[in-house]
Amino acid sequence: MPIYRAPVDDYRFVLHELLELEKQRDLPGFAELEPDLIDDILTNAAKFCEQVLQPINQSGDEEGCHFENGVVRTPKGFKEAYEAYRQAGWGGLGAPAEFGGSDMPMLLTMAVNEMATSANQSFAMYPGLTGAAYSALIAVGAPWMKEHIVPKLIDGEWAGTMCLTEPGCGTDLRLMKTRAVEQQGGTYRMNGTKIFISGGDQDLTDNIIHMVIAKIPDADGCIRDDLSTVNFFMVPKFLVGEDGKMGARNGVSTGGIENKMGIKGQATCVLNFDDAVAWRLGPKPTLGEKRSASAGMAGMFGMMNVARLGVGMQGIAIGEVAYQNAMAYALERRVGQALTGPAEPDKPADLLIVHPDIKRMLLHCRSFVEGARAMAMWTTLNMSVAHSARPEAETAGHLADLMTPVIKAFFTDMGFEAANLAMQCYGGHGYIRDNGVEQFVRDGRINLLYEGANGVQAMDLVGRKLGRKGGAAPLALFGLIGGWLADNDNPALVAFAGPVKRGLDNLQQATLWLAQHGLANPNDAGAAAADYLQLMGVVVVGWMWARMAKLAQAKLAADPPNAQFYKDKLMCAKYWMERLIPECPMLLERISAGSATIMEFE
Ligand SMILES: Cc1cc2nc3c(=O)[nH]c(=O)nc-3n(C[C@H](O)[C@H](O)[C@H](O)COP(=O)(O)OP(=O)(O)OC[C@H]3O[C@@H](n4cnc5c(N)ncnc54)[C@H](O)[C@@H]3O)c2cc1C
Repeated sequence: MPIYRAPVDDYRFVLHELLELEKQRDLPGFAELEPDLIDDILTNAAKFCEQVLQPINQSGDEEGCHFENGVVRTPKGFKEAYEAYRQAGWGGLGAPAEFGGSDMPMLLTMAVNEMATSANQSFAMYPGLTGAAYSALIAVGAPWMKEHIVPKLIDGEWAGTMCLTEPGCGTDLRLMKTRAVEQQGGTYRMNGTKIFISGGDQDLTDNIIHMVIAKIPDADGCIRDDLSTVNFFMVPKFLVGEDGKMGARNGVSTGGIENKMGIKGQATCVLNFDDAVAWRLGPKPTLGEKRSASAGMAGMFGMMNVARLGVGMQGIAIGEVAYQNAMAYALERRVGQALTGPAEPDKPADLLIVHPDIKRMLLHCRSFVEGARAMAMWTTLNMSVAHSARPEAETAGHLADLMTPVIKAFFTDMGFEAANLAMQCYGGHGYIRDNGVEQFVRDGRINLLYEGANGVQAMDLVGRKLGRKGGAAPLALFGLIGGWLADNDNPALVAFAGPVKRGLDNLQQATLWLAQHGLANPNDAGAAAADYLQLMGVVVVGWMWARMAKLAQAKLAADPPNAQFYKDKLMCAKYWMERLIPECPMLLERISAGSATIMEFE
């Protein structure tokens, strides 16, 4: 049976010591954030995830979801766990108090999401998109939706989904076929098919609020193959009146659930919209000469950015739980003897943990998980700063914008690699379902694909984020890391600052190369994008490790009872510098190779 212990101590280190949340009280939502309150939330979330969600993870995977007579049933135990989740108020943790939420900063909701995903990714995804749905309704919904629907979503009585994908369009939304035609009275009738909809149907909530994108036909009734007529809609499973009363079943039905590689406890649905009543969100679009996506779509893109960060956290979550299980196995399984002679001569063999290759794999996972967690929390803090009155608000917004695709793609790539390495530590036993580690590989694989496949995240980074506002975001990042390196140019930190400096040089050279070549030949940018995203991830996580190493050095002497915690931090930091930062010159070389050979491939 797999194990999971939520990383409460590590979160306390990142939030209190690295990010010093106590000094951030001026930020929106941080005023009441006493250290004890943070610790209580983390500890209670840990208990819930370990005791309620984790025990039904493996059984949920074995049983999967059921689809009979058009109705979806979740695996045994999910309904009770959802009710407990709801009663504890976890779904409203980050929601505004005026709608019934607890108004906690996004940092804490991300931390709780990580724990829930490690414990049970399939389950965590049911309420996962509800947060995105109520945020979008708060941003662009009508007043009656805010009054009657948002509180029910926050309470968890109802759930939300996000419906973009269709059989003919995933990445390329221009090709969407679902259409919505305006009716008298201002609502719309929607027709079309959406596929791969997470939590598209389930037996956990009384109603489901689908957030759907669809095209409004032109005056001539035509649907265009561009984004100009794409709009954002709310389509409830059961109709909701403007007085909040739930009515008859809407024209949305479940066509089936997907038979998938992983997250089998999560119902991934085909949804058919047959004259479904839909409410368009945001101001009415004008169909002028100059066409652009509607204002309501801004609400959807906002929802997707937060969802992308959330998927990045799923990468960390899978890496964490896979690592914990591999470590436990390495401390109980006896195979071979230490290369330097038997560590326990009275035993038939030594523990797996004596072998350098096993230690390498474990340390690889751990240095990723803890470094990535620090970077994700730093980015989330930047999002809060971006919404504050601080002078650095604009720069913080640029940084968060730049980091979002890196977190989504680099962390899910690395989280999947960590799950694979964890499985490798088990040898053949890792391939056997009973041991549970192969589930992490299967579950974690989806994170690289949905919410914008990782290749598309790389294109977003290189094609949009780098150049926006004259390169303000990368310039801010380079300035910040460069400034830290200059301030910490001392012998005690050279083992950490030196490698980060080399990585930063490589990243700046790669950025210059892209600026010189990417515009002239877009294929050069496209061929370099994935490597560039990885390079940025390695350098920024490296910088986080250098900052954490500095803290750990200071705390090692000042806090003897916790010396082992800080020694482990220094070990992981050194591993990143010795084993990951050397990838930077290699990535730079690959980036500057250009696209000629790749494009010759017919
Ligand atoms: C289990 C699961 C759950 C999901 N949940 C949801 C959900 O809740 N809601 C929802 O709307 N969707 C959901 N999806 C859909 C998911 O977001 C899409 O599958 C994903 O965005 C990719 O779209 P696609 O599958 O059509 O791939 P395609 O768009 O066909 O892309 C195929 C490949 O080509 C690459 N590619 C495409 N365009 C470019 C380009 N311009 N440059 C470089 N590379 C490119 C992509 O990176 C990808 O590797 C889910 C999918 C799965 C499997």
